[in-house]
Amino acid sequence: MHHFEQRNGTLFVEGVSITDLAETYGTPLYVYSTATLKRHFEAFDSAFASMEHLTCYSVKANSNLHVLRLLASLGAGMDIVSGGELYRALLAGVPAEKIVYSGVGKKPEEIRQALSSGILMFNVESMQELIRINDVAREMAKVAKVSFRINPDVDPKTHPYISTGLKKNKFGLNIDLSLEAYALARDLPNVEAVGIDCHIGSQLTSIDPFLEALDKLLLFYDKLKAMNLDIRYLDLGGGLGINYDEEQPPHPKEFGAALTKALGKLPLKLILEPGRVIVGNAGVLVTEVLYTKQSPNKSFVIVDAAMNDLVRPSLYGSFHRVEEVTPQGRPILDVDVVGPICESGDFLAKDRQLPEVQQGERLAVYSAGAYGFTMSSNYNTRPRAAEILVDGEQVIVARRRETYESLVAQEL
Ligand SMILES: *Cc1c(COP(=O)(O)O)cnc(C)c1O
Repeated sequence: MHHFEQRNGTLFVEGVSITDLAETYGTPLYVYSTATLKRHFEAFDSAFASMEHLTCYSVKANSNLHVLRLLASLGAGMDIVSGGELYRALLAGVPAEKIVYSGVGKKPEEIRQALSSGILMFNVESMQELIRINDVAREMAKVAKVSFRINPDVDPKTHPYISTGLKKNKFGLNIDLSLEAYALARDLPNVEAVGIDCHIGSQLTSIDPFLEALDKLLLFYDKLKAMNLDIRYLDLGGGLGINYDEEQPPHPKEFGAALTKALGKLPLKLILEPGRVIVGNAGVLVTEVLYTKQSPNKSFVIVDAAMNDLVRPSLYGSFHRVEEVTPQGRPILDVDVVGPICESGDFLAKDRQLPEVQQGERLAVYSAGAYGFTMSSNYNTRPRAAEILVDGEQVIVARRRETYESLVAQEL
């Protein structure tokens, strides 16, 4: 993460001081690094250079238009999970033929929008969804290209809430029942089965579950070939993990090498849907210390960012590194870093060793670029944070801070 580094005693992102940003734009403040986003995308994409492939960035990880535009300019396609994300991706200039549409609950209107824009394919998760897509396509006199999301029953060994490829999860179709789905697709006139898809979970720190899933999909692919289906795409989803704390996820290069080796010379175009690995460590959340207080067996640092800004610690018990923006070599205390929201679950860091920070100074919450702002809310009528994209010395306000007026606008 050398684009976020201490320089002259304070934290910089590329050529810009975090303190200056906080003073100009206030806190809580999301700050992203263009150079890091580029490096992450290129490292990932180039890992698959030996194969025909398309890297479809997973929009839900960080859907800021400026981030999407940047990734689109690097050649990224997009993986979307809603009509809203389709709207964002198209607005950011992503060619429709580089967009894949995932998710268990696509509404007819969303299917219509995706078909009329001409996306690459739908990743279908149920028989009923297939029938609905066929119906909508028929009304529009179109043929929808589809893949089925196969649930390979593989344990990704990650948090239960972000495990998606186990039998008990709501995602995808049971692998044994999927042949039936492909047979139905073959018989319906307004859908064409062109691919196989899976996405087994998020924040995976080992390649093995991916390889295990791939093995199962390749066996399945052989069965489809025997059915005379023209399968051209293999979508392996996203899920590659990042370093929050002590994890040691494989480097994208290693990940790409293992997958391309396992795939050999199959005549399939590979689709990948990375989210977290592109944006997670390209962003920090900057927050100001409002108060500190000691009770007999606990010290609290109360900051102006809360679970509505970054819900991952509350939702998943996730670890985010928290550090002073301007370190001063003070004694270390055991603290909880908590927000102003009226919930005991409102914390950014628990039982953490932090220098004895003072009221008014700022802290950086690391690895906040993925599932940070996109999962934020207005709980406690808190305007959502501003987002800044830094590019060298240049500062782009990627999203203005919400105002009280914007908070109530839909209610007037
Ligand atoms: C969330 C999601 C992704 C991205 O997952 P990451 O862990 O952020 O890489 C990719 N594909 C699908 C279908 C998803 O739901």
